[in-house]
Amino acid sequence: MESPPPDRLALMRTLFETYRQRYLNRDLRLLDDFSDNFTGYTGCGDFLVHDLAQWQAITRTDFAQVPQPIHWEMLDLQLQDLAPDVVVAVAFFHIHLPLAARFLADETARLTLIFRCEAGVWKVAHSGISLPYQVGTAGDEVYPLQSLAERNQLLESEVAARTAELEEANRQLAALSQTDGLTHIANRRLFDTRLAEEWQRACRHAQPLTLAMVDVDYFKHYNDSYGHLAGDQALQALARLLAAHARRSGELAARYGGEEFALLLPGSSLKQAQAIGRDFLADLDALALPHAGIPLGILTASVGVASLVPGPDNTPAMLIEQADAALYRAKQRGRHRVEAGAA
Ligand code: GH3
Ligand code: MG
Ligand code: MG
Repeated sequence: MESPPPDRLALMRTLFETYRQRYLNRDLRLLDDFSDNFTGYTGCGDFLVHDLAQWQAITRTDFAQVPQPIHWEMLDLQLQDLAPDVVVAVAFFHIHLPLAARFLADETARLTLIFRCEAGVWKVAHSGISLPYQVGTAGDEVYPLQSLAERNQLLESEVAARTAELEEANRQLAALSQTDGLTHIANRRLFDTRLAEEWQRACRHAQPLTLAMVDVDYFKHYNDSYGHLAGDQALQALARLLAAHARRSGELAARYGGEEFALLLPGSSLKQAQAIGRDFLADLDALALPHAGIPLGILTASVGVASLVPGPDNTPAMLIEQADAALYRAKQRGRHRVEAGAA
């Protein structure tokens, strides 16, 4: 195909550029350039335009919806010289709207313009702009801003819901990782954490920290007599009783391991802790889980309590050792009792 002579090419470029600049700059003089016998299509839904009046209304809506200058990133321009009074410009571009949503910036839009010379004046006889963006427009919108806002809102609410679900799952995971699977009271991990925290707190306030260690009596025998499952149930019942004695803020009942439990008592003196230990043993007696192989005939436990004022020479491990030593004495002295303090 023979390329048009330079002056014809220049004319086509000028026609296209004039149109383009007025459109980009939201310049309503654009409307002066249209033929009375105009047809076109536009918008994200390839909306058909039957006459000039309709096109003028749409253009005004377009300019009102986005009044600031817009920007085209030109990808290609094809100019065709169809007849002495008809030329065609087909432009491919990315459209950059001055909006937060860059919804058209990455899509290749296409504009087909047919210019016709009418009574010596070049007019736009057809304008077909195709925005390949699959979102319906609302009302008389040219750009689907409302649909996008709704879609954004939907996405945001979905993200919020997911975030809440994740937070809940994390909370449950955190709770699980601190809970003993059999007895559902605090596990050793949480006990260690809280012991360290309460130790620091007691240190700051120069107050004693008190601990009771509990160990079930003749539990191996219990398992042997009643079976491991019954043993598990006995541990669950005992844990419930012990947890009922962790009433005040900072107090914690935990499964220390196996059939050993710990009761952290930050606000209690050694004497108070002994009383709590005795109350707990009385509760266990009242529960009266049969344990036929031993003299008392019911399941019992032993308790060792210790109390330390945290200081430079003390550690949380020493508190545990002293409570363990007291527990050992309770076992030696016949079990089913509370012993207190270091040897
Ligand atoms: P003592 O009075 O000296 O404490 O005697 P004991 O038999 O309780 O002590 P020992 O340490 O010899 O036995 C503890 C038993 O606790 C052994 C173990 O099988 C049992 N045990 C530990 N964890 C569990 C558990 O989760 N479920 C059951 N059913 N038994 C457990
Ligand atoms: Mg034991
Ligand atoms: Mg035991």
